[in-house]
Amino acid sequence: MEKGGNGNRVVVVGGGVAGSLVAKSLQFVAHVTLIDPKEYFEIPWANLRTMVEPTFAERTLINHRDYLTNGNIVTSNAINVTETEVLTADGSQIAYDYLVIATGHADHVPKTRSERLDQYKAENLKIKSANSILIVGGGPTGVELAGEIAVDFPEKKLTLVHKGSRLMEFIGAKAADKSLNWLKSRKVEVKFEQTVDLDSVKDGHKIYQTSHGETIEADCHFLCIGKPLASAWLRETVLKDNVDSRGSIKVDEFLRVKGRNNIFAIGDITDVPEIKQGFLAHKHAEVVVKNLKMIIDGGRERKLVTYKPLSSVLAIVSLGRKDAVAQFPILTISGRIPGIIKSGDLFVGKTRKQMGLSS
Ligand SMILES: Cc1cc2nc3c(=O)[nH]c(=O)nc-3n(C[C@H](O)[C@H](O)[C@H](O)COP(=O)(O)OP(=O)(O)OC[C@H]3O[C@@H](n4cnc5c(N)ncnc54)[C@H](O)[C@@H]3O)c2cc1C
Repeated sequence: MEKGGNGNRVVVVGGGVAGSLVAKSLQFVAHVTLIDPKEYFEIPWANLRTMVEPTFAERTLINHRDYLTNGNIVTSNAINVTETEVLTADGSQIAYDYLVIATGHADHVPKTRSERLDQYKAENLKIKSANSILIVGGGPTGVELAGEIAVDFPEKKLTLVHKGSRLMEFIGAKAADKSLNWLKSRKVEVKFEQTVDLDSVKDGHKIYQTSHGETIEADCHFLCIGKPLASAWLRETVLKDNVDSRGSIKVDEFLRVKGRNNIFAIGDITDVPEIKQGFLAHKHAEVVVKNLKMIIDGGRERKLVTYKPLSSVLAIVSLGRKDAVAQFPILTISGRIPGIIKSGDLFVGKTRKQMGLSS
């Protein structure tokens, strides 16, 4: 099929980790349209570094046009989907032959790259001008943010409050303990099994109340709690029965939406039974790229590539610029060695190369 003709129109909804890679990889074999409410792709695993070093964002915020030179870009939210089209908030109707849904987690970020850069500068100023900082949430985001601030601004008083009984429940207790010890060694105060009433803080008043009745004094706070999946837009559509009670999209072993031949879903939004991580979202993207290339080339269904979920935990959580905690299938380590793997450049050069850009 000739590129641009009917039969090979691929619409990708979501320009995050998974969707941007699919759009980039198919742009010269199909007629690709990428729908995303923002004009840029952001490397999420680097965005805590950008809060302590805003210029780092110059490499982590990549305009979609920089890697998608041969496709259409629609800067808007998808709000509906039919058997043949995606509808967007700005009123566009985009016809597809193949649809790839990669909307991940819902997040409200600015539309333009320069606005996002300004946002990081403002967050950096907030950190710099505070003597004491409260971090709410002890998942990987809260822990990594605490690590960044503790290393770059050791003079700040840091308190981290987590509602669970240990940090980062998504990985093993050993990795969580190692992270806790590291944070304590940097004088971060960590409080478990309580929540913070953020409504209790009045402007100019710096006392936060916890669910245990404790008070925490802090000049500012950062909320680092999980975000909901971005599938609400599908609830009233032809795909409504493919969204489970948690908001995940049900997929088959080829990462097609269950019961559909021409609609795929990838990344965090899927019900693939594994931890939701970016490097796995990339693997989903690679499987769907292979499958779509094969289908567009007129290949047979029995040649479709399957995706095998990762059965063990594989995660590296950075702790500032040099250290990290890593959980591998049979080993958990912390300190400089995992730090060498991740914490210096946070895989930014590698991710940029994957997108066809200079590192
Ligand atoms: C702070 C942080 C650190 C992380 N660290 C790591 C790490 O070290 N290693 C790792 O492997 N993973 C890490 N992750 C997880 C990783 O980032 C996610 O697993 C990955 O981003 C999932 O990719 P995705 O494409 O499914 O979704 P996302 O990357 O979240 O992209 C979703 C895209 O969909 C768009 N979208 C949403 N709704 C709509 C709509 N209605 N219409 C159109 N577009 C829409 C959004 O704008 C966004 O561009 C981290 C995540 C965070 C937040």
